[in-house]
Amino acid sequence: MSDPAGMAPFVSDVATPRVRFGAGELACIGDEVDRLAAKRVLVISTRSAADAVDAVTPRLGQRLVEQIRGVAMHVPVEVVADAQQRAEGSGADLLLCIGGGSAIGLAKALALNMKLPIVAVPTTYAGSEMTDIWGRSEGDTKVTGRDRAVLPRVVVYDPLLTLDFPPELSATSGMNALAHCVEALYSPSATPVTSMYAHESIEALCSSLPRVIVDPHNVHYREGALFGACLAGWALNATTMGLHHKLCHVLGGFGLPHAGVHSVLLPYVVAWVSSAAPQVTEQLSVRHFAGTPPWLGLWELGRRLGTPSALTSVGYRADLEDEVVRHVLASPPESPRVITESAVRAILSDASVGAEPAAQA
Ligand code: NAD
Repeated sequence: MSDPAGMAPFVSDVATPRVRFGAGELACIGDEVDRLAAKRVLVISTRSAADAVDAVTPRLGQRLVEQIRGVAMHVPVEVVADAQQRAEGSGADLLLCIGGGSAIGLAKALALNMKLPIVAVPTTYAGSEMTDIWGRSEGDTKVTGRDRAVLPRVVVYDPLLTLDFPPELSATSGMNALAHCVEALYSPSATPVTSMYAHESIEALCSSLPRVIVDPHNVHYREGALFGACLAGWALNATTMGLHHKLCHVLGGFGLPHAGVHSVLLPYVVAWVSSAAPQVTEQLSVRHFAGTPPWLGLWELGRRLGTPSALTSVGYRADLEDEVVRHVLASPPESPRVITESAVRAILSDASVGAEPAAQA
């Protein structure tokens, strides 16, 4: 809905992959590889996507030259080095990744170094397949960057592949997707177009995720959640993320699980940022949470989905606090509200015990 006070000028310049979406679309994978004129395919997959890989590989025939089955969270540099050796040894001219953000992340790390095209088949809701953002970790530090070379050329969304995605992982992964949308709305680089995608995604996720948890094998609910994830990835790619994603990346560097951390932190960061962008806060509240403040709406959604409520339950220890604060303040993200040491400490302290979030003046 346009603002009666008028719309500020904006620029929209977003590169996106070709997207195929729908139950059974995995069957088209051979055609998509042919469209890219690829002759030597390296398949990278998460172990839990074994069934999907088994369905895909016969369709590749002679074009399948190498497979990496099993990936690691946060793309460790040693894993990249090993995968690159195998990619070079096989003479691969296309990377086909099947799985969540970890499989897609490894393909992106290779694409960054080797300039190979990616075809992505996501099986979680993390959204990496829609972005030009790469990441890799070395020791306890995770580095991220942006490069068009890592944006997949084609993404095939097939909800049938997500039917066995466990409900507890579906819930945290869905909260990860919601976090992209919420930070896209609060982002200083938001435009009416990015906000439209973000709101549409939140609507799809909020209505599908609770149903997915109750009836995980229902393909229509899975379709809704995957569609929300696709739009969330689009919104992530088209904007810059704020304190929430920064904290998740820093904590990821310490080995905490990505989606679990997103699920816990999101309501606390929203409670902190909300006063700096009251219009966004109001829209979130009215459009998605029946007038409840969005930090409480998100917190209650998490309780409904059964996601972890305290950072300590996903491996956080109080002795990490100083290091986390140091990393965040060393390169703070763009944010509508000035990021201070006391704000970061307050968020970590409340989130570590799972206290009910409250707006921070
Ligand atoms: P993941 O890929 O590690 O998957 C999470 C878990 O789900 C794994 O145990 C995996 O085996 C399992 N799984 C995946 N698909 C399954 C399926 N269909 N059925 C059963 N189990 C399944 O994690 P993720 O949450 O998808 O992604 C997180 C990673 O992606 C992090 O490293 C994060 O930084 C990165 N990420 C990057 C971007 C980006 O734009 N670059 C965006 C979001 C996330």
